[in-house]
Amino acid sequence: MENENPSPVSASGALLKGKPLQVVLAGEEHQFELDEGILETVLLDPSIQDKKVAIVSVAGAFRKGKSFLLDFFLRYLNAKGHPDWLGDDESPLEGFSWRGGSERETTGILLWSEPFICKLPSGEEVVVLLMDTQGAFDSESTVKDCATVFALSTMISSVQVFNLTQNIQEDDLQHLQLFTEYGRLALEDNDNVSKPFQCLEFLVRDWSFPYEAQYGAAGGRKILERRLQVSDKQHSELQQIRRHIRSCFKDIGCFLMPHPGLRVATNPHFDGRLKDIESDFKEQLKVLVPLLLDESNLVVKEINGVEITCRELVEYFKATAEANNL
Ligand code: GDP
Ligand code: MG
Repeated sequence: MENENPSPVSASGALLKGKPLQVVLAGEEHQFELDEGILETVLLDPSIQDKKVAIVSVAGAFRKGKSFLLDFFLRYLNAKGHPDWLGDDESPLEGFSWRGGSERETTGILLWSEPFICKLPSGEEVVVLLMDTQGAFDSESTVKDCATVFALSTMISSVQVFNLTQNIQEDDLQHLQLFTEYGRLALEDNDNVSKPFQCLEFLVRDWSFPYEAQYGAAGGRKILERRLQVSDKQHSELQQIRRHIRSCFKDIGCFLMPHPGLRVATNPHFDGRLKDIESDFKEQLKVLVPLLLDESNLVVKEINGVEITCRELVEYFKATAEANNL
């Protein structure tokens, strides 16, 4: 007889059915290209095309653990509510490619090929998609590429995780303003003047002041309030950035993650197995991932306040790409 409650992650991680697909690609000349074929193959599958959709994206500078984190999102979604979703101690982490070292990867947007079907509290089925972004901030032209990738992924997603390291710095806010300015301009054609984007989650990695603000969402809120506070004492430009960011998103949160340990950060042979990751980090993963992906927390993608289906997302993606001159 079959085991009715199998572990969600096999020793080889072999339960992963999907793979990352490059849906937006930056070329040598800094031109971007949308792969409509990939988009249509994933989203126009008859089993999902008429269902509502929630899209979670992770964006930010490169080599800061975005893909690594997304692989835990995959574990969670594959486990379908199994309490041991984090997996066993010895399984290498698989999914979106992540690695140590500092060499560049291509700039662009990756879409996980397998859509996950979840149930909203209302009982309605919703399709969950994961998006990874890649890019660097190492020269003038790549900052512009990154802005495009960030703007596009923010417009497409219902939840944008802005992955940062150590703290929310002033230049992170400046980058965010630049990115969202692109998005805002692109959205101006639609009469969506008030809040063009849905949820923004600042994710601070390697937070090292837990005595000042504790790990997790409550500590995050404290830091976020402090960073986004507008006061008369600030230079008007700083006030303006803060107002702009608040005006762009319906909902803004922040989560403080502990450092995952030196094996994760520096060991070239680390393959993602849990036994090499600090327990504080794993504890917070168990909080963060359900906060974003539990069925009761999913955010359905809306355009002008109306929830959209996978089929409508294809059209929206194409229009957004065009508005960004892709
Ligand atoms: P990405 O370019 O942002 O997608 O980064 P990757 O997911 O490829 O990870 C880059 C490197 O950072 C890998 O060596 C990971 O082991 C390591 N890493 C993953 N998460 C963290 C973290 O929270 N803190 C630190 N310091 N390193 C991490
Ligand atoms: Mg990556």
